[in-house]
Amino acid sequence: MDCIFCKIANREIDTEVIFENAEILAFEDQNPQAPTHILVIPKKHISNIQEMAIEDQQQLLPEIFQAIQQIADEKDLGKGYRVVNNCKHNGGQTVPHLHFHLLGGRVMQWPPG
Ligand code: 5GP
Ligand code: ZN
Repeated sequence: MDCIFCKIANREIDTEVIFENAEILAFEDQNPQAPTHILVIPKKHISNIQEMAIEDQQQLLPEIFQAIQQIADEKDLGKGYRVVNNCKHNGGQTVPHLHFHLLGGRVMQWPPG
């Protein structure tokens, strides 16, 4: 499968890793939308939230949010941050490998576009 985030997870593409455990990887977005813009992904290929099996939801979602919490501490995001998941076409998803954006370092606007 030709998936860019699988290649990053498999270290076929050299990427600086921000956080890693057996199931999860985090790295900087190549086109940052905030001073801190990190992507948190499961290493396993899952296309999007709707494609998550219940077992993956139960195991991976808590790990992803624990990683987000830890990275936010390490990146001094104590004033706050935003977590975004774009799901499928109407959600604005462009890379079909589940990922959560962690954005911080500035005040965010609402509503999103
Ligand atoms: P989406 O629009 O699917 O929610 O977000 C995909 C994100 O992945 C975008 O913010 C884009 O900048 C980022 N991205 C796409 N390809 C690469 C890549 O090869 N490396 C990195 N670090 N980020 C990428
Ligand atoms: Zn993938």
